[in-house]
Amino acid sequence: MKIGCPTEIKPQEFRVGLTPNAAREAVAHGHTVLIQSGAGTGAGFDDAAYTDAGARIISSAEEIFATADMIVKVKEPQPGERKMLREGQLLFTYLHLAPDPEQTRDLLDSGCTAIAYETVTDAAGGLPLLAPMSEVAGRLAPQVGAWTLQKANGGRGVLMGGVPGVGPARVVVIGGGVVGTHAARVAAGMGADVTVLDRSLPRMRYLDDAFAGVFKTSFASAGNTAELAAQADMIVGAVLIPGAAAPKLISREQLSTLKPGAALVDVAIDQGGCFETSRATTHEDPIYDVDGIMHYCVANMPGAVARTSTIALGNATMPFMLALADKGWKQACADDPHLLAGLNVHAGQLTYYAVGKALGIDV
Ligand code: NAD
Repeated sequence: MKIGCPTEIKPQEFRVGLTPNAAREAVAHGHTVLIQSGAGTGAGFDDAAYTDAGARIISSAEEIFATADMIVKVKEPQPGERKMLREGQLLFTYLHLAPDPEQTRDLLDSGCTAIAYETVTDAAGGLPLLAPMSEVAGRLAPQVGAWTLQKANGGRGVLMGGVPGVGPARVVVIGGGVVGTHAARVAAGMGADVTVLDRSLPRMRYLDDAFAGVFKTSFASAGNTAELAAQADMIVGAVLIPGAAAPKLISREQLSTLKPGAALVDVAIDQGGCFETSRATTHEDPIYDVDGIMHYCVANMPGAVARTSTIALGNATMPFMLALADKGWKQACADDPHLLAGLNVHAGQLTYYAVGKALGIDV
């Protein structure tokens, strides 16, 4: 199979769909790998790394789209890319179609077969191609929160780990899933005093078993949340209700009960945010102040660490990419119901129920 990987063109996207290691494995499986020149630059992979891996460097996205049987990307295809997709071509990338009727229409019109990273499942009921980005965002949250807490950035001027004789920062993480657990571990590793709030008792039992002594857990009732938030130097928002907008867990009025200069890091901003005063920001201008409380609400946090994110995503997508290339999408999906769960579009038909329901299109 010819596998094509164009340069990402969405603003501020520095990741790349194939790492040199993934290209090397695909070549070893007998496939031809076409990489757009410069596609890996943002993630620290130059063209030579790909040619060393046996890939061919192609100068234009047009040629990649015209030649490849499968396109492997990171972000959803942009309007110009969608025009280049064609019937029978396989697209493997993040799509997030439910809130995007224009993209959905273009993909249906193209006749391509599109498998979305975000709906591929695993045997444990998880989302294996979303999890690596949650791990990255979770581990990054205390790092950006610590920076936000610095005085020059409008924060309280509190050091995460304190120093001998001065207590550490108090960090509250709301939501103890993938993001929350990784955020709590890193915050605790920086020396902070950390409490994780969740509404799932099985999840809290797991966290208590695995991390007792590293961080505390507390049930996320409104009362507990308000009490702990009022004592916190940093609050990380990491909740998810699958398929729904994030619940608002700290209201605008509540900001007056928080410590002046506290840092709110709303990782759940890509689902609308879990603080009433959250609005999406960018890496160029990541923080803003509401009533003396500093908000960090970057919707694509993993983009800040494009190299780590690319490698983490590549590790997770590689087995699926190889199965699709080796067997063709029909056989690969017939053999693996979890990969089949990723099928969103085929030959002008929407094939993912939740997207059809959200957009009012028959599936
Ligand atoms: P997850 O499903 O692993 O965890 C979510 C947790 O939230 C679960 O444990 C759930 O029990 C808990 N929860 C739900 N409602 C709650 C409530 N009212 N109070 C307390 N806890 C509650 O999800 P995840 O992978 O950790 O993702 C968390 C959020 O981070 C999602 O919105 C995801 O889209 C987002 N995310 C954002 C970025 C970014 O760059 N901003 C990157 C990755 C993930």
